[in-house]
Amino acid sequence: MSETIDIKSKETWERAKQIYLSTLSSAAERGQVERYLETITSVMHENGVFVIFVTNDYSASFLRDKYSDKLKKCLELVSSEGKVDIEFRTSERAKPAIVVPSEPPPVAASVSPPRAHAKAPPLASTMPLNEEYTFDNFVSGKSNSWALAAAQGVVSNPGKSGYNPLFIHGGTGLGKTHLMQAIGNELKKKNPALNICYLTAETFLNEYVNALQNGNLESFRKRYRKMDLLMVDDVQFLQKGRQFQEEFFNTFNALQQAQRQIVMTSDVAPKNLPSIETRLISRFEGGMVQEIESPNYETRLAILKKKSEAMVPSIPDNALEFIADTIKSHVRAMEGALNRVRIFRMVESTTPLTNDVLTHMLRDYIEKEKSLRSLTVEEIQQSVAKRFHVSIDQILSAERTQSLVTPRQMAMYISRKYTTRSLPEIAQSFGKTHATILHGVKNIEKRLDVEPDLKSILNEVLNEFGCSLKDNLD
Ligand code: ADP
Ligand code: MG
Repeated sequence: MSETIDIKSKETWERAKQIYLSTLSSAAERGQVERYLETITSVMHENGVFVIFVTNDYSASFLRDKYSDKLKKCLELVSSEGKVDIEFRTSERAKPAIVVPSEPPPVAASVSPPRAHAKAPPLASTMPLNEEYTFDNFVSGKSNSWALAAAQGVVSNPGKSGYNPLFIHGGTGLGKTHLMQAIGNELKKKNPALNICYLTAETFLNEYVNALQNGNLESFRKRYRKMDLLMVDDVQFLQKGRQFQEEFFNTFNALQQAQRQIVMTSDVAPKNLPSIETRLISRFEGGMVQEIESPNYETRLAILKKKSEAMVPSIPDNALEFIADTIKSHVRAMEGALNRVRIFRMVESTTPLTNDVLTHMLRDYIEKEKSLRSLTVEEIQQSVAKRFHVSIDQILSAERTQSLVTPRQMAMYISRKYTTRSLPEIAQSFGKTHATILHGVKNIEKRLDVEPDLKSILNEVLNEFGCSLKDNLD
């Protein structure tokens, strides 16, 4: 089967993909899936088989192992044929976003044999950088000016000790990934020959496990230790595991000693990372640590102006002000609201965007902001205690029987994922450390994936507050 454009399959695939993405309630997972799906170069359909071409072997095997079944079901939903099959292949014309030469150096392009017959050179599985994530597109404000300055410092002096590593932390949807990739995009522009690698902590871990299983540990090491810029996103997902942390520690040291730049992001400060060994934490703290906070009104408005600059039809100022005024939790929600206004302008170009029209159009965003922000941790504890037939005192106690740990951690999870309460505030309301809260949240997150009963209990509790699973603030 040759690799050509097949419009109809592409449409079917796009619809199936959208359905699948809409089933993912965790933004972290959605982000991860989206990044892998971005490596798709084309889609073919023949004899009931959808063949999906991607840019690299790693993506192909990851998508195959983790998502084949689910994507297949979604394809069956939207395709006119009842049963379909799905196959992931590495595209022969693929050109990864950033090609990182690996040992041994590849033969010069002009003398290399045709790709199809050559053994594909092993590429570092850098995930593609979003070209929109640049410094130009990043709006500076009080909430992020230090982090921005630090990121620009890295670009001027990559690898220099004051900025190495750069660790950016802050809540979801506040621009960490954007800023990190801006560093990558800018350095790549300045010097296309640099070895640049961007990946999530989870992918890094997967790579390591694969290397371990296939006995390729040496090439794994070589590959990462020759990076000029290594960006690891969402390090809060690094798992406990001595062996991997040891490996990470060594890679980290090797890069630092060679004055190669490391940038990391996380939703918490290094000292609150739940499962990271202390020696790694002190390494993370050894360079520059900067936080991004929630933007204030002026910054929210400036971000909306920037995002709507090129929109056709244009979005009137009063609509931007309305969004900046009502949606405060994070930039991603603001973007969703802006997009809805844009679509409305496209189809209803003559209806004036009065406050009434906007309130009606964005009512679910507004409701969510209200209900989520007004929820207190105490209300959540009460509601969860009632549902599990335990007392508030038991929830707050240190007793560790499973019948108490579950409601306790569930209350932590709801407080963290469904309200805009800060981590210190939540920790205080539970009388626990930040790390304990994060551990509890993570534990519930894992269990929700495999315990449908727990998920339905969570939904019940949320319903009481007029929310549902999809209102997760991630
Ligand atoms: P995080 O990684 O912190 O969860 P992202 O970097 O994914 O957040 O940002 C979410 C969205 O908000 C992105 O589309 C990003 O471009 C946008 N965004 C966040 N902060 C800013 C900012 N200061 N200026 C412009 N866009 C921003
Ligand atoms: Mg991110």
